[in-house]
Amino acid sequence: MRAYRVGLTAAVVTAGLAAPATPVVAAEQVAAPPVSSSSTAVGHGGAVATVDATATAVGRDVLRRGGNAVDAAVAAAATLGVTEPFSAGIGGGGFFVYYDARSGRVHTIDGRESAPASTRQDTFVDPATGQPYPFGEARISGLSVGVPGTLLTWEAALRAWGTRSLAESLRPAIRVADKGFAVDATFRQQVRDNAAVFAQFAPTAQLFLPDGRAPEVGSTHRNPDLADTYRLISRRGVNAFYEGPIGADIAATVQRPPVTDTPTRPWPHPIRPGGLTTTDLARYELRFPAPTHSDYRGYDVYGMSTPSSGGTAVGEALNIMERFDLSRTPPAEALSVHLDASALAFADRNAYVGDGTHPRVLRELLSDQYAATRGEFEPGSALPKPTAPGNLAGPYGSGHPAVAATGGEEGKSTTNLTVADRWGNVVEYTLTIEQTGGNAMVVPGRGFLLNNELTDFSFVQQAGAPPDPNLPAPGKRPRSSMSPTIVLNDGKPFLAVGSPGGATIITTVLQILFNRIDRNMPLSEAVAAPRASQRNSNTPAAEPAFIADHESELVALGQPAFHSIAELGAATAIEFQDQRRLVAVAEPTRRGGGSAAVLRPAPDGPYGRLDDQTPAPPT
Ligand code: GLU
Repeated sequence: MRAYRVGLTAAVVTAGLAAPATPVVAAEQVAAPPVSSSSTAVGHGGAVATVDATATAVGRDVLRRGGNAVDAAVAAAATLGVTEPFSAGIGGGGFFVYYDARSGRVHTIDGRESAPASTRQDTFVDPATGQPYPFGEARISGLSVGVPGTLLTWEAALRAWGTRSLAESLRPAIRVADKGFAVDATFRQQVRDNAAVFAQFAPTAQLFLPDGRAPEVGSTHRNPDLADTYRLISRRGVNAFYEGPIGADIAATVQRPPVTDTPTRPWPHPIRPGGLTTTDLARYELRFPAPTHSDYRGYDVYGMSTPSSGGTAVGEALNIMERFDLSRTPPAEALSVHLDASALAFADRNAYVGDGTHPRVLRELLSDQYAATRGEFEPGSALPKPTAPGNLAGPYGSGHPAVAATGGEEGKSTTNLTVADRWGNVVEYTLTIEQTGGNAMVVPGRGFLLNNELTDFSFVQQAGAPPDPNLPAPGKRPRSSMSPTIVLNDGKPFLAVGSPGGATIITTVLQILFNRIDRNMPLSEAVAAPRASQRNSNTPAAEPAFIADHESELVALGQPAFHSIAELGAATAIEFQDQRRLVAVAEPTRRGGGSAAVLRPAPDGPYGRLDDQTPAPPT
């Protein structure tokens, strides 16, 4: 039996015991939902923004049929498991942030993957050489697989705040997996980027490399195995996964990777087994940490606490930025302050934040007093990079050296979605299997990829450096950068935003908040604007348009030159305006463009009021 508590309430919910309330409808009986692909939608009655038009249409349909934001978010996420299988799915984990309109409170679910009991601090050190494995070797192995938390996250969110069963919520995704969807350029490119590793594993090659090649744009991709997996979960609940046949297959895949005898392409590394067991799966538990909180210019910013570093890093950077009146600062100097605040927050994040960081440390990092010690610089004179972490009170840390951000953290994997319903509930949800394509192993006969989340751990303790908070250990969760964020104004939602992008998630979310709040950009512009990512480096990353627009003036202020990266992040967001008007935004172009939808699009004229008497859904 699996029992857990939600937030600080006494609501105990039990997963995986009950049969689904609603039978699964045969796929053929239901038409595929209509698909829209606009990146901004304005209107009333509920909104959905995801990276994918099919998932957005599924979420909108759930809202239209009376479901709430949690119902729509889970149905959309399950659909992304079909249409965005390289970024998210039940083989991975994520962080779910929920604003509950009735109580006015923000809750979080930590469904991050946890390290199996067999994990050691030197799990990612090659015993033959004593050196850490190259990233690619660690990734494409059983060693990198953490116990997935995504399915239990869906179940817990629905039980706590939804109105629909897990079986109902999986139904649209089953339909998409059965009937198929049109492959787009992003899907094809993600397969091409992974073709060499996908070719190593028979079930992966079978699913994603038909005839040995990436599927053509416009061809129909079906995943009947995943449809069957979702159906099995619909019938038997999450225990089919955590304590049943799906879990047994996951453990077998990790322990005996399904390597093909006849790979069509060479792979330069040995493919090592891992130690994840069915007991690890049975023992997996969600956590429900209090959200991080910071006050930014009168807004209450709620984010994800550890094992994500997103909430503390975004919050600390905002606290530092708040020390400057950025709306009156010359634009280039304001941008420079924003980048320096980001560098300072990353220095602290790298030194102090990991799973198990003491709550006092997290509180200190998010305090205005601490921001005052970090924000002692002039807007017109950029900080040298890398900059050192700050000094914490008591035994927790001081005198740490400046260490630059390490590379390899600008991934384009992961996915994010934002949902609001007519009752005012909001979901901001980031989910991932880590790298695009995870560890490249499809569980045979089950139709989903496994994560490589444990490569988010530091592989080794750096010699001479203070203790690394992110070293592997049994049951520990690797530090994440996922930053699902909900901003309240006077207790009511103002903005919800999140993004994929590895460690650049933090800078993308921070930059969107800066663009919207300090630079007063409309949300669609705040999301579309060219991005930079300053993670305490003297070679920060930026998109070409950002470099063209800002590099010379920033360099004149002492900021380092940027290295160019095609794109950073793939955000989604919703803004909550007067008279319950919603502005839902996805990317216009990044990662092929996302999809935003509202239930009732606003007419050109004045916007109508929603009926304030609309009853809340049953919970
Ligand atoms: N594994 C990363 C994290 O948890 C996310 C991967 C990505 O977005 O590229 O921070």
